[in-house]
Amino acid sequence: MDEKTGEVIADLKSYLEYLKEMGIVSLPVSDSVSEIKPQEPSPSRIMTLDEVRKELGDCKRCKLHQTRRTIVFGEGNEKATLMFIGEGPGYDEDVQGRPFVGKAGQLLTKIIESIKLTREEVYIANIVKCRPPQNRNPEPDEIESCNPFLMKQIRVIQPKIICALGTFAAQTLLKTGSKISDLRGRIFDIEGIKVIPTYHPAFLLRNPERKREVWEDMKKIAELIKAL
Ligand code: URA
Repeated sequence: MDEKTGEVIADLKSYLEYLKEMGIVSLPVSDSVSEIKPQEPSPSRIMTLDEVRKELGDCKRCKLHQTRRTIVFGEGNEKATLMFIGEGPGYDEDVQGRPFVGKAGQLLTKIIESIKLTREEVYIANIVKCRPPQNRNPEPDEIESCNPFLMKQIRVIQPKIICALGTFAAQTLLKTGSKISDLRGRIFDIEGIKVIPTYHPAFLLRNPERKREVWEDMKKIAELIKAL
């Protein structure tokens, strides 16, 4: 077995172990990675974000609806080249209905501006659209309910690059149980979309010494955008 195949098998094994730990003992037949495959070039996109939002409606598909105030759909440029995906809304986001508007959000705004972009130029979303109570991690059934809508957003936006913020976004998007410290610093390719995992801004607020690594990741993103 060559080194690459060994790595893929080890990753797959760790992903399956991760699912087991999360209580998932069977796998759906559909492959959601293929759902974020960019559409064939077409003059018009299949849906608009407004249509995805309408389809989501006053969502009660998972238990998070019982405790949320507001659905945080996501915001930004419908044609963004770069998309940021976090974990889920916190208190401020739940109140305002907008992603990343609290302390971690202010840091994310600075991170975006560090590569001479604005929040309006990128698109910001989360793995789940409703605040988990007490900011606990989203649970597998909640992610599963929300995932089709995130995938539709990705299909509409067709970003070239997704920056996965933190363990949860990275593990969910890349379908791995690997640690964020092992994932960051690497560029993944999912059906033509480059996925760059980096530390979550909330983690940086607690560990400011790790900002340098995020800066490295952002420089990589800026280079990729420049090369497009
Ligand atoms: N943390 C997240 O992961 N997402 C937000 O929208 C806010 C904080």
